[in-house]
Amino acid sequence: MRHEAVVIGLGAAGAGALWALARRGVSVVGIEQFDIAHDRGSSHGRSRLFRGGAAEGVAYVDLARRSLEIWRDLEASAGVELVSLVGGVTIATAESELLRRTETAMRERELPVDVFDADELRRQFPQHRIRDEDRGLLDAATGVVRPELAITTAIDAAVAAGAVVHGGIRVDRIEQLAGGGHRIMLDDGDEIETSRVIVAGGAWTGRLVPELSSDFIVRRAVLSWFQPKPGRESEFLPDRFPVFTREDQSVTGWGAPTIDDYGVKIGLHDQAGYEIDDPAANRADVAAWELEGVEAFCARQFDGLEPVARHPRGCMITVTRDEHFSIGTLESGVVLLAACSGHGFKHSAAVGDLGARLAIDEDPELDLSLFDPYRFRTTQQ
Ligand SMILES: Cc1cc2nc3c(=O)[nH]c(=O)nc-3n(C[C@H](O)[C@H](O)[C@H](O)COP(=O)(O)OP(=O)(O)OC[C@H]3O[C@@H](n4cnc5c(N)ncnc54)[C@H](O)[C@@H]3O)c2cc1C
Repeated sequence: MRHEAVVIGLGAAGAGALWALARRGVSVVGIEQFDIAHDRGSSHGRSRLFRGGAAEGVAYVDLARRSLEIWRDLEASAGVELVSLVGGVTIATAESELLRRTETAMRERELPVDVFDADELRRQFPQHRIRDEDRGLLDAATGVVRPELAITTAIDAAVAAGAVVHGGIRVDRIEQLAGGGHRIMLDDGDEIETSRVIVAGGAWTGRLVPELSSDFIVRRAVLSWFQPKPGRESEFLPDRFPVFTREDQSVTGWGAPTIDDYGVKIGLHDQAGYEIDDPAANRADVAAWELEGVEAFCARQFDGLEPVARHPRGCMITVTRDEHFSIGTLESGVVLLAACSGHGFKHSAAVGDLGARLAIDEDPELDLSLFDPYRFRTTQQ
C-alpha cells in the first residue's frame, strides 16, 4: 500500500511532524524502532527547559513561540499540561556574552525583559549564591516542558486523527523510486511506499541519510537531579525557584525546579561528552567521573541542595559543526528534521510542523536559510 507520508523516528520532532500531518488530513505512517517515549534517545528525563528568549538568536525565539502555540493547542484538545511557564533567570557577570545575546534576542522580538543587579538577585532568588559582579535577566516566557508526555500526547492525537504508528520496527534503508516517492525498507522484511518521507532520527540521523552523516556528531550527555537539604524543600518549588542558567567560572549550568520527587534537575552546558559511534550502544548508567563537574557546580552554587547527583541517566546530544539545526528538503526529496543539539526539545513541535509543511509543499512561514542541510557542502568538497 502506498501512503502519502512516512515519518521515521517518533521522538520529539517526529511526534510533532506526525501530528502536524495527521491534523491536516494527510494519510501518514510513523515508524519508531523502540517503544513510544522510550529512554534510549535524546528525549527522556521528565523535563526539558523551555526558553522563550533563546540566546541562540531570533530564529530560535520564533521556533519556541511557534512550539508553544502548537503545544497549547494540543493541551487544549487533550486536557493535559505540557508546558509550565514558571519563568527563568539567567545569571552571569555584566560582560557576559550569554546575557547580551539573550537580551538582544528578547528585545528584538519584544519579549518583556527584567534586568536585575546583584542585590535584587539576592532578594528574589536567595537559593543562588550571588557574587557582587553578577547580573540577572528574568524571562517570564520560560519554563518547563514534559518531554515524554509531549511525545505521547502528540502521537495519541495523531492516531486519533487517522495516523498509523508502528513501534518496535527499525527502518533499515530509504530507497528513492524512479517514478517519484520512496520505498522504506523495514528490519522485519516489510516495505512501505510513500510519496513523501520525513527523517526525524535524532542521534541516528547519519545512518538514515548516509550522504550527510559526516555533518552530525553524537555526544554523550547525562541527566541528574539534586535533593534539597531537609527542611528546605519548599525553596526549590516552581513558585520560588524558576528555571535558571548560570555562568560560573568556565562552565554554564542550567536547571529546573522540583516538579516531582526526583528533585532539582541540574546539568552543565559546556561539558561536551565523549563522541558516540553507535547510538544504540549508549550506556544508560553513568560513571562517577561523569558527575564530578555537575556535583561541583551544585556545591558551589546552592547551599540548600545536597551536592550528590541522584537518578543519573545517560542521554545523547547530536550537533552539527555550527550547532544550528539542519531542516530542509534534500535532493532525494527526503525532508530532514535534524533538530539536534542540547536545546532542541523546546523547538520540536515547531520543527515537526515545519517538516509537515515541507512534505506537503505548504509555506513554512519562517526563514529556514540558517538551517540549510547543505550549508557545509562547500567546505566538504
Ligand atoms: C541531557 C540533555 C538535556 C537536554 N536539555 C534540554 C533542555 O533543557 N531544553 C531543550 O529544549 N532541549 C534539551 N535537550 C535537547 C533535546 O532533548 C533534543 O534536542 C531533542 O529531544 C531531540 O529530539 P529528536 O526528535 O531530534 O530526537 P529523539 O527524540 O531521540 O528522536 C529520534 C527518534 O528516532 C528513532 N529512530 C532513529 N532511527 C530510527 C530508525 N532507523 N527506525 C525507526 N526509528 C528510528 C529513535 O529511536 C528516536 O525515538 C537536552 C538533551 C539532553 C541529552
